[in-house]
Amino acid sequence: MTAPVICLFSQDLRLDDHPALCAAVASGHPVIPLYVLDESTDWAPGGAGRWWLHHSLVALASTLAAKGSRLILRQGDHAATIAAFAREVGASAIYFSRRYEPRAALAQEQLKNALIADGITCHRFGGTLLFEPESVFTGAGGPFKVFTPFYRACLAGPPPPAPIPAPDRIPAPGTWPASDAVEGWRLKPSKPDWSGGLRSAWRPGEKAAGERLADFLAGGAAEYPQQRDRPDRDGTSRLSPHLHFGEISPRRIWQMANFAADAGGRAGIDGFLRQLAWREFCHHLLHHFPQIDRAPFRPEFASFPWRDDPQALALWQKGRTGYPIVDAGMRQLWQTGWMHNRVRMIAASFLVKDMLIPWQRGAEWFWDTLVDADLANNAAGWQWVAGSGADAAPYFRIFNPVLQGGRFDPDGAYIRQWLPELAALPADTIHAPWQADDATLAAAKVRLGETYPHPMVDHGKARDRALAALKTIKKGEG
Ligand SMILES: Cc1cc2nc3c(=O)[nH]c(=O)nc-3n(C[C@H](O)[C@H](O)[C@H](O)COP(=O)(O)OP(=O)(O)OC[C@H]3O[C@@H](n4cnc5c(N)ncnc54)[C@H](O)[C@@H]3O)c2cc1C
Repeated sequence: MTAPVICLFSQDLRLDDHPALCAAVASGHPVIPLYVLDESTDWAPGGAGRWWLHHSLVALASTLAAKGSRLILRQGDHAATIAAFAREVGASAIYFSRRYEPRAALAQEQLKNALIADGITCHRFGGTLLFEPESVFTGAGGPFKVFTPFYRACLAGPPPPAPIPAPDRIPAPGTWPASDAVEGWRLKPSKPDWSGGLRSAWRPGEKAAGERLADFLAGGAAEYPQQRDRPDRDGTSRLSPHLHFGEISPRRIWQMANFAADAGGRAGIDGFLRQLAWREFCHHLLHHFPQIDRAPFRPEFASFPWRDDPQALALWQKGRTGYPIVDAGMRQLWQTGWMHNRVRMIAASFLVKDMLIPWQRGAEWFWDTLVDADLANNAAGWQWVAGSGADAAPYFRIFNPVLQGGRFDPDGAYIRQWLPELAALPADTIHAPWQADDATLAAAKVRLGETYPHPMVDHGKARDRALAALKTIKKGEG
């Protein structure tokens, strides 16, 4: 009987454009698809990510079944569990996609070392990124720290490899090993009201990811540069959770988007591909600077006078700051597991600059509540806003939540959707209800301090305080 090989799935929960799976099938051995849940690591999936993972595993099991295969689930320490499984089934080799997060990359190294003694070979493949982090480097040969030259270097090099189709059949072993039941992992939240919001907003799985891409390319993509900053419009792809869980490959997106551009004009699509490249840049940064998930990229920020204020943090988390655009974003996040990028920037700026709360507290909350929570993108996004990142916003840029709201949600439609208690306010006061006169508030049935909070800080004063705090570290730097 031919020894089986294992195809290990992790953040590549698809069959399309899966180089590791294709190589496993091409080996001519029976293939056992395996997923291992390791909750002992830091940055194990948060609440919303666990919900998504549950449904994505169910979807993957069903697509594998259609190819004559099966998904085997096991739980425990990554390297030890996989090594034990490989011995249990008498595997001759393991095929898997490369991971880039420091802990996951280390676990893959440990796995390789654990299997060498048993003569089991490990085969690692790309496919999760368009450009491997070592393949893009500056003139001096080092990693990039600024996005635009990074992207220029990506475009100047060889194009990403073309995606490869899913195998027609996946050869099965004579007998299947035992598997955990996904329901037994209790990945779904215990509060049904929470998952209800996620369920109505999303459809996890490879099939849904492909459909979302096709819809986006046929619809909003052409107008992407004009619409992408408008939280009141459906102007972005919403592919982020599908990309995080690897339900669609970036190479497939790159190819399909370029086909669409060739057929219907480049401008919109190029803007979208540039944004997709931010994901590449964030992974490039995390790979080369593996401490950025916790520590500021710019060391001078270690002495920033942050405040410890659990009550303020809780008001921000609940969407009760009194600044409508911040609160609408935080409620969108809680109810759907996703927040528009422009509002992520405004809400994050409010926490770190108006409240002086460490960006790590915000990143942790996003980690728990975002369906697309992604170590590279989240850490880089927060550090960018905090000003402590590699390619950060200038330290003096402090988003004004009222002006940002008026500019990017001019009619107040986004506020009305997520803050129904303000829905009847006119557009000229909906982003600053405390500026409305008594008659306007009464007509809209808004009672500040009762139906909706007063602003928890005065933005002008908070801005001055943040600039003063930032100056202390700028001085230290000099
Ligand atoms: C404070 C903060 C935290 C963030 N945390 C995350 C996170 O945990 N996970 C995450 O995927 N994104 C994160 N982002 C980036 C961005 O907000 C989301 O990727 C985007 O809103 C997802 O929506 P979309 O798929 O419709 O994006 P689109 O505009 O359609 O973009 C297409 C894809 O490009 C990538 N992308 C777009 N913008 C960015 C960006 N600024 N940085 C990195 N990749 C990008 C995403 O994979 C996205 O799906 C964060 C941004 C900020 C400011």
